[in-house]
Amino acid sequence: MIYSKRKLLTTFTLCGSLLALSGCGSTSNESAQKTVAQNSAPNNIIMVVADGMGPAFSTAYRNYVDDKNTPEVDAVVFDDILMGNASTYPAPVSGYVTDSAAAATALASGVKSYNGAIGVDVDKQPVKSVMHYAKLKGMRTGLAVTSQIVHATPAAYIAHNESRQNYNAIADDFFDVRVNGELVADVMLGGGTDFFEREDRNIIGEFIDAGYEYTDTYNRLATVPKGSNVLGLFAPVALPAMLDDSRDNRLKYLTEHAIKHLENDNGYFLLVEASQVDWAGHANDIASAMAEMQDLAYTIEFLKTYVQAHPDTLVILTADHSTGGLTIGARGDYSWSPEYLHNLKASLGTIAKNMVEHDNPGDYVATTFGFDVTDEEIATLDSIAQQDVKARFNALKVFLDNKTNTGWTTSGHTGVDVEVFAFGAGHDDFMGQIDNTDIAKKIFNFIDNRNTTAQGISTNVELIKATDKKDGTNASCDFKENWRCN
Ligand SMILES: [Zn+2]
Repeated sequence: MIYSKRKLLTTFTLCGSLLALSGCGSTSNESAQKTVAQNSAPNNIIMVVADGMGPAFSTAYRNYVDDKNTPEVDAVVFDDILMGNASTYPAPVSGYVTDSAAAATALASGVKSYNGAIGVDVDKQPVKSVMHYAKLKGMRTGLAVTSQIVHATPAAYIAHNESRQNYNAIADDFFDVRVNGELVADVMLGGGTDFFEREDRNIIGEFIDAGYEYTDTYNRLATVPKGSNVLGLFAPVALPAMLDDSRDNRLKYLTEHAIKHLENDNGYFLLVEASQVDWAGHANDIASAMAEMQDLAYTIEFLKTYVQAHPDTLVILTADHSTGGLTIGARGDYSWSPEYLHNLKASLGTIAKNMVEHDNPGDYVATTFGFDVTDEEIATLDSIAQQDVKARFNALKVFLDNKTNTGWTTSGHTGVDVEVFAFGAGHDDFMGQIDNTDIAKKIFNFIDNRNTTAQGISTNVELIKATDKKDGTNASCDFKENWRCN
């Protein structure tokens, strides 16, 4: 028997209307359902957001890892956990196509807002997130992401700001927003030292003073004692692209370590984000898109093993929207050749940057791509080296798009529904066609259900700023390519 709040409600309503006819009181069937409901309610909740991962990305990934020597396209780690679809549209003021901030606010709080909103509603009033609520209910809380931790998705679970671009003010909120006097997140792993160690404020120091372990290398993270509160910032802004990082499983590594510090008898809520699927989509970079999907797949594989050993854990995976309008096949040609993407030794950004340092740039690019190219193609790649870095990146990207026959329709987001995956305790609650706000609403319910017998339910989270917010410096987006801010 599978727990579903909606199913239970239906049972009770039917029962109510039939009461006069059949004496439909408290049946053993009902109490059986309630028992099952409690048993299948999770103690730990892990929300995984793959930013920008529309359905074409998961299909592309299945083809990308397919063994061409077998007749079928083999199933991947996502296939047996698919539950359904979620709509992603933002508040009406922003139309049908969401940005990551409005989508993150919806996923975190169950509230539709305008594009750009971080943890605030359309009237710019703070809304409570499932992470705030988990903290209020005595759970441990954390996040592990591959962007800077103040980027839209993680920000919406902690901070409140009218604009996602106010990175410094959002970083302030990571320390200043409190739930019953406590910091919102116990564990924060990702990038972003630039926003936490500033001339006007050293928030890293404040976290250390508040008892947090601080680390800025993956290896040092491994030495932090289990059960610690941890701030781990491994890059000035975002982590390097998967293709450039020193670990080819960085998200899995961060997730594993976050869980190590969060596990406790009262349960935990963890947000995991494969942040850079979206950035590959914005850049229309199929090589990075598949590499970031690979990192996500490693993470889900790890979480499946974890849930087997910890069946009181629920894992939900979804995207906030699709990015780039990726198509598998393009230009009227019925083919897609992801095998060209299997042996890249660096991201296109890095190749574009470094190729000019080589006497024979075409040879360097061919070696770094890791597949055979013709003399004619080497000559083309040599000629690309004469252009500026942006043009070089674009030319390399088009080269790979043509090789693989990949298509893109936009450098921005698209409004298609995204897939919803779930496994572990309570996962069936996510079945069917739902809305992104439903995901937060279901998580709020699960957080309540953990403690229904233990304590009363408080419905108000007081979000108190520990200090008056300083004048939020408007961090402009020019520290990286502008698409990183979209
Ligand atoms: Zn985006």
